[in-house]
Amino acid sequence: MKQAGAHILRGGAFKPRTSPYSFQGLGEEGLQILAAAREETGLPVVTEALDPEGVDLIERYADCIQIGARNMQNFSLLKRAGRAKKPVLLKRGLAATLEEFLMSAEYILSEGNYEVVLCERGVRTFSDFSRNTLDLAVVPAVKSVSHLPILVDPSHGTGRRDKVSPLSRAAVAVGADGLIVEVHHDPNSALSDGPQSITPEMFEGLVRDLRQIAPVIGRRL
Ligand code: PEP
Ligand code: MN
Repeated sequence: MKQAGAHILRGGAFKPRTSPYSFQGLGEEGLQILAAAREETGLPVVTEALDPEGVDLIERYADCIQIGARNMQNFSLLKRAGRAKKPVLLKRGLAATLEEFLMSAEYILSEGNYEVVLCERGVRTFSDFSRNTLDLAVVPAVKSVSHLPILVDPSHGTGRRDKVSPLSRAAVAVGADGLIVEVHHDPNSALSDGPQSITPEMFEGLVRDLRQIAPVIGRRL
C-alpha cells in the first residue's frame, strides 16, 4: 500500500462492533502487529481507542489516536484524548450535525491538543442502497467554518466495495484533505468489514485516478 501511495496505516486492534459476538479485534496483540508493520514499512499508524483508559495503551503504540463514530460524544474520552501528546482522528457520529461534530473536536482542542483531524464517514439516512450516506457536502461546510483538516472514509460511508472508488474520487474533487480506505488482500475472508474492503489492485487503480483528479482543484497526493 505504501508503494501504491498510502501515507498512513489504519487498523483496529480494539473494535467497536455492533454485536458482542462479532470479532472484537486482537487487543494489545493487534497493537504489536501494527507496530511491527510500522517498523517494516515506515508508515505511521492510527488506531482506535474505545475508552479513556484505553488511550494509555494506544498512546504507547500508535502515532495517532482514532475516536470512532460511536464515541464522538464520549466526552470523557474526548477530554482524555485532548491531554494526549499524539494527534487525534475524530470520526463523525452516526447522526451528528456539523455543530455537534465541531463541538466534539472542541473538547479535544480545549484540553490543549490542537492536532485534530476530522473524518466524514457517512451518516444514517433512509437510503437503503448503502450502509450509510456519505455526506460529502460537509467537507466544504467544515472548510468554511474551521481550520481543521477533514478526511473522508468512503468504506464505512458506503459499505460496498464497488462504491468505494467512485466516492473516493468525489471526495478528492470536493476538497477532502485525505481518504481512509479499507483494503484487504482477500476481502471475503476479512474478520471485519470485508464487503466494504477493496483489493490492493483496486487501491492502485484508485490512486492512479486520484493523481489526475487532485491537480484539477490545485491539490496533489
Ligand atoms: C473504523 O474506522 O474501523 C470504524 C469502526 O469506523 P466508524 O467509527 O466510522 O464506524
Ligand atoms: Mn471497519
